Amino acid sequence: MSLADLIRGKSGPVGVATATVATPATVGEGNLPSVATVASVAVADSPNAKSGTPLLDALEVACRGLPVTPGFVQSALAPEDKADWERGDLSLDTLRTFAQTLVWDQERAQGKAPAHYAKRALCRQCGPIWLWTEGTFVSCPW
Ligand SMILES: [Zn+2]
Repeated sequence: MSLADLIRGKSGPVGVATATVATPATVGEGNLPSVATVASVAVADSPNAKSGTPLLDALEVACRGLPVTPGFVQSALAPEDKADWERGDLSLDTLRTFAQTLVWDQERAQGKAPAHYAKRALCRQCGPIWLWTEGTFVSCPW
C-alpha cells in the first residue's frame, strides 16, 4: 500500500453507517475515556525534500519519540512515495503521520489497541472492535 493510499483512508474503516450497536446503553460510553487527538505533530523547523534533506535524515526527525526506526519506515515506503519525496511532494508531517500509522499497525498486529482507539464499534467482518470512533463498519484496520 502506498502512502497516498494510506492517506486517502484505504486502510481505514469503510462504509460508515451509524450506530445500531455502539450506543451509551450498550457500551457504557460514560466510562470510556475520550478519544485522544491523533498525534499532534509539532515538528519545529520542518525540513522537507525541497530543502534537499535526504529521506533517511527526514525520517530520523519524523520518528523522534516513536518506537519505530527510520530504516523500518523507509523500507515501508512504496517506491512512488520515495519518488514523491524526491520531487518535494511529501512533507515531513506526512512522513511523521506515516511513521505513527506504522506504530499503530504494529500495535494492532500484537492485538493491542492504540491508545486513541477508545470507542467501541462494530466491524461487519470482525465483530466488536476498539476504534477511534463509534459506528458500524463494513471493514476495519483490525
Ligand atoms: Zn474488521
